[in-house]
Amino acid sequence: MTSPTPTPDRRLFGPGPSNPYPEAVAGLNRPILGHLDPDFLAIMDDTCAMLRTVWGTENSRTLPLSATGSAGMEAAFVNTVGPGDVAVIAVNGLFGERMCDVAARCGADVVRVDHDWGQPIDPQRVADAHPSPKVIAAVHAETSTGVRSDIAALGRLKGDALLITDAVTSIGGIELAADDWGIDVGYAGSQKCLGVPPGLAPFTINDRAFARRIEHPQSWYLDLGLLGGYVGEASARHAGRTYHHTAPTGMIASLHDGLARILAEGLPAVWARHAEAGHILQDGLEKLGLELFAAQGFRLPELTTVKVPEGVDSAAVRSELLTRYNIEIGAGAGAYASTVWRIGLMGHNARPDAALLILAALAEILGR
Ligand SMILES: *Cc1c(COP(=O)(O)O)cnc(C)c1O
Repeated sequence: MTSPTPTPDRRLFGPGPSNPYPEAVAGLNRPILGHLDPDFLAIMDDTCAMLRTVWGTENSRTLPLSATGSAGMEAAFVNTVGPGDVAVIAVNGLFGERMCDVAARCGADVVRVDHDWGQPIDPQRVADAHPSPKVIAAVHAETSTGVRSDIAALGRLKGDALLITDAVTSIGGIELAADDWGIDVGYAGSQKCLGVPPGLAPFTINDRAFARRIEHPQSWYLDLGLLGGYVGEASARHAGRTYHHTAPTGMIASLHDGLARILAEGLPAVWARHAEAGHILQDGLEKLGLELFAAQGFRLPELTTVKVPEGVDSAAVRSELLTRYNIEIGAGAGAYASTVWRIGLMGHNARPDAALLILAALAEILGR
């Protein structure tokens, strides 16, 4: 007989997953229900209603996809672009690059608008890249660089195109207003600022985008037309719900309880808490003599990128943080893998004490 391997009690200060809210963890302990049980469907409806609030949308088609944020990205493109459709994609980091790959696999004619990593996107340049794209896509909070871009400005310039927005690292952490900003299709993830374990992708699509969707997308699993029959519009309530796939009912209960916790605190208070924690961390890193990577004025409070000091072994510091302090932080992304660290203070971790803990540990290690 072997006993279960003990799991170390890590502080997840990387680019996600973050330590979930205790309420979201408690939600995992609820009895597992069937995916067509009326009691579960009530939890699902409630979850979709709370997701509308955190998205800032009235879209009836707002639901948690049964997969991670990347599946949300895949669903956004596979349902909106097919062979020959023009997709203008703003790229200022790894996740913009991933969008290009996903859209190209759908057969889209990808017009890629590159920006320097560490800088926000330039909405005018993106809008001017093509006269009549079917979709324009951008990442709101680039987790690879720690940069926030102005999605509202892009929404004002989108013309007739559908605006796809990656809100994986912004939802539940900084202001997000899908309807006011003109977001037609948005996807997110459960495990970053929403403070829920990984496994679900909150998704929203408005009527305009749904009417212009690909009728028979190549993905059966992510076909929003089919999914609508199960998750259903709010008005459909429970009648006529049909089986599509087995919804991860335990995860959805966890998301439900995490969202309820966020809304009980209130979104403005949650955003202010993220802003404060990020400010303490960024200020403290500069006081330690470190240099921040993301452009000033566009820094995300929930994800801080900091340059690894000259002569310091980036991986050795991360490994010591993990083994000595039980703290996980992220390496840099892409070309910055060994020259930048990524420190997340998301969801439950967006607190002053978490900021001070990582600052103290870094100061101790770098001081030696
Ligand atoms: C994490 C992340 C993703 C991918 O989400 P997964 O849950 O890892 O599949 C996409 N976009 C951004 C901006 C992210 O931070």
